[in-house]
Order: sequence, then C-alpha cells, then structure tokens
Amino acid sequence: MSYENLTGRTAVVTGAASGIGEAVAVLLAEQGARVALLARRVQRLDELAAKITAGGGTALGVVADVTDDASVSAAAERIHEAYGAVDLVVNNAGVMLGNPVEAGRLDEWQRMIETNVTGVLRVVRAFTGDLVATAAEGRTADLVNISSVAAHLAFPNYAVYGATKAAITHLSQCLRTEFGPRDVRVTNIEPGFVESELRLHTDNDEISAQVDGMVEAMGTLSAAELADVVAYAASRPRHVNLRQIMAMPTRQA
Ligand code: NDP
Repeated sequence: MSYENLTGRTAVVTGAASGIGEAVAVLLAEQGARVALLARRVQRLDELAAKITAGGGTALGVVADVTDDASVSAAAERIHEAYGAVDLVVNNAGVMLGNPVEAGRLDEWQRMIETNVTGVLRVVRAFTGDLVATAAEGRTADLVNISSVAAHLAFPNYAVYGATKAAITHLSQCLRTEFGPRDVRVTNIEPGFVESELRLHTDNDEISAQVDGMVEAMGTLSAAELADVVAYAASRPRHVNLRQIMAMPTRQA
C-alpha cells in the first residue's frame, strides 16, 4: 500500500520500542518520513533505527521517559537539532496495568496516569510550537493520539487504565478546538486488541489470564495493521481530519 503526503514529513513516535509504536515508525519510514523513535529501552531503539536505516529509511533513536519533564525536553532538543521542526507527532507510549481497584495499587495508578495522560501532555507541550508553525507555512501538521476502546468500554479490573484513555479521547476532542482553527489536525485512534507487549506488564496472573481468554476468543489486529490506520489518517489531504477512529478485530464487540 502506498500513501500520499508522508514523504518528507518529520515524525516523532513515542513508545517506538515495541508493538504499535515500532510498527508505526517502520511504516512511516518506509513511506519516506524521517522518524524520531522515543522510548526508554536504548537497545530496542538502536536495533530499530539500524533496521530502518538498513532499509533505506531515516531514523533517530532518542531515549526518553515520558514521565520525566527533563527527559522529554532533552529529547525534543535533540530532535530539533537533528531534524528541525516536527510535523507529525504520534503519542503512543502507554502502559496497561490490571488489578481490582480494591487492591489499592496507587503505584500502578500513578504510573498509568503519569505515562498515559501526563506523558501525552508533556509530548504535546514539547511539539505544539512545531505543529502550529508547520501548519502556518501551509504544510500538513498532525497530532495523533493513541487512546483505546477502553475509553468507552468497561473492562473489569482495568478501571484506571480505561479512565486514562477516556482522558485522552476527551483531550483529543478538546485540542481540536484549539488546533483545528490553526490547521493542525488532531486524530484520536482507539484500538481494540492489538498484538504487542502491552498485556505482559500486569503482575496479577489471574487477571492476565482473563484478558488472554478474551484475546483468544476475539483475535487481535497486528501492530502493522494498526500502523496502517495511523498512516492512512496522516496521509489524507490536509483539510481532511479523521478525528476519531475505532479499529478493532471484527470479532471484538
Ligand atoms: P507495548 O507495551 O508493546 O508498547 C508500549 C511502548 O511504550 C513501548 O515501546 C514502551 O517502551 C513505551 N513506554 C512505556 N512507558 C514509557 C515511558 N515512561 N516513556 C517512554 N516510553 C514508554 O504496547 P502497545 O504497542 O500495545 O501500546 C501502544 C499504545 O497503544 C498504548 O498507549 C496502549 O495503551 C495503546 N493500546 C494498545 C492496545 C492493544 O491491544 N495492544 C489496545 C488499545 C490501546 P519502553 O518500555 O522501552 O519505554
């Protein structure tokens, strides 16, 4: 598949060390975008950057922790030095930790809120100036937020994760009112089950097994299939904003 409007773009993909972010980075680079890869695991980023470069693409691995202000600011500075202004931001880094609320796992709640909500805001803050300036020059500028169907659907034991994703869906809608009038698109993507490392981080085996059971029954999208959705949205003509997309396996209700 080929997409219009991606060649020559400069993208930042957070959470590029695995899963959806990795697949998005690979696809954007294949389509001729320069891609800054952000995550915490340096080895994964180095391997991915080498793979993209070997395939003829352009990529820069930048170790960054979206829960840390200084880390995100330093990453933005490094990207600006290397590539100049960014015109496509994919806010994808996230964690999903499942436990009953009565377990009182404040540590997990804080980690999810810091990563999935405040982390997204830190990245928005770092690159808003770039997006607004790009659009003012008449070029395409995109903010893509990876939310989740969990923003709408209720999954037992994932209440706080769902709440963080509901926050992102609402944030995206509100940001359109600020960015849209300045020709910066905001696209909120809500995936259903996608094959990735996301399910591996819950430390409660019983709850992990419940999710595994649902995945077995409903199947998953591949990360590459979700990347196709991101690339499709970012490759529309600049006056067309697919503002809200739910993408899930056909068998997932
Ligand atoms: P993965 O766990 O494979 O990817 C998550 C990525 O986020 C990793 O690259 C990880 O890299 C990075 N990350 C985690 N914490 C931080 C941090 N503090 N700073 C920077 N990077 C971080 O899962 P997915 O690919 O599935 O997840 C991507 C997004 O998709 C998430 O926002 C998730 O909520 C969302 N989503 C996924 C669904 C699914 O079924 N897979 C369904 C709906 C939404 P590192 O550890 O190296 O930092």
